[in-house]
Amino acid sequence: MFETSSLTISKSAYQNNLDFIRKQCNDGVRFCSVVKGNAYGHGLVPFVRMAYDQGVDYFAVYSSAEAYEIKSALPKADVIIMGMTDEPSMEWAINNEVEIFVFDFEKLELAIKMAHQINKKVNIHIEVETGMNRTGFLIQDLPHVFSIIKENIDFNELIGFTTHYAGAESLVNDFRVREQINLFAKAQDMLHQSGLKPKYIHSACSAAMMNYPETIGNLVRIGIMQYGFWPNEETLIRFNGNSRENDQTLKRLLSWKSKVMTLKPIKKGDYVGYNTSFQAYADMTLAVIPVGYAYGYSRSLSNSGKVLIHGEEAPICGIVNMNALCVDVSHIPNVKKTDEVVLIGNQDKKTISVASFGEMSDQLNYELLTRLPYDIPRTIID
Ligand SMILES: *Cc1c(COP(=O)(O)O)cnc(C)c1O
Repeated sequence: MFETSSLTISKSAYQNNLDFIRKQCNDGVRFCSVVKGNAYGHGLVPFVRMAYDQGVDYFAVYSSAEAYEIKSALPKADVIIMGMTDEPSMEWAINNEVEIFVFDFEKLELAIKMAHQINKKVNIHIEVETGMNRTGFLIQDLPHVFSIIKENIDFNELIGFTTHYAGAESLVNDFRVREQINLFAKAQDMLHQSGLKPKYIHSACSAAMMNYPETIGNLVRIGIMQYGFWPNEETLIRFNGNSRENDQTLKRLLSWKSKVMTLKPIKKGDYVGYNTSFQAYADMTLAVIPVGYAYGYSRSLSNSGKVLIHGEEAPICGIVNMNALCVDVSHIPNVKKTDEVVLIGNQDKKTISVASFGEMSDQLNYELLTRLPYDIPRTIID
């Protein structure tokens, strides 16, 4: 209540992106929506409810806390925890048929021990280390992993066999990703020899799905592209025939809006805000917007970001404060208190995209999105 800005999430944009993603995959490939990081800032619960209405019933997160939120909202959805599960959350996961990534022997042993205690199968995805060097079993440890799984076959269900690529968005990493693909193929040979048959073999994130379609398997784990962003510009350019012009393939879901809080006329030569980084080049009118870095609006956009007011770009003057920022509206007639301000999104024919916002502030889309605070309400619109 009483928030100074609002976020809207577009359902039709999401449908557009889902259609595009499904077109990249053959029939029978299951779509798993990656919603870690508060659904990349889109708001976990509002986002998963919307996605579920549109037929998405499989979600992947990092933390058990996020899995718990999804299961509370959508008890029938399938959920994977790709990161940490300690004893209490493991117990909850087993009881609620939530799937977990298993990437080391301690976790495998704990999962099986708890499954015995609860007398219920634990749903696991075995993650293989192929070169990301974050989490995953080493190839040479797989025979031991398979024998533990087989010895405890009444207490585990092998749902998935998986790995994750280290930078499939860029050709610079091609040698590394190809080596990972080869190692994962080798791991799959070992899996087949063991006789184990997981439901899903999966490794593709957004960038791998686009740049290495051979990684698609029968499940894709898609984060950034479902929200309407390319993993990076290179991936867009490669897809789009060496051009990034007029790309309408993906649509952004998110808009971020606020209102003019007050107006401030200043004289030529006046300094604006803290310090002396902005000095008025003429007599000017500033609009003060009640959004600052405490709300996820990066301080690095000081004197460089832009917002939209009356369909015109209004540049930020001075430093982004904790709870406010000032923009130049001298060139925009009749700006009044409470007029709409677009921080991200469209107004008339102009757009402030998170990407350009990201480029301006030298941050990746991923980081900027996930920094949008939890407490700004997210509203789903058509
Ligand atoms: C984040 C993540 C994904 C999704 O990545 P995108 O680039 O957003 O599609 C897939 N798998 C794992 C293990 C991840 O951590």
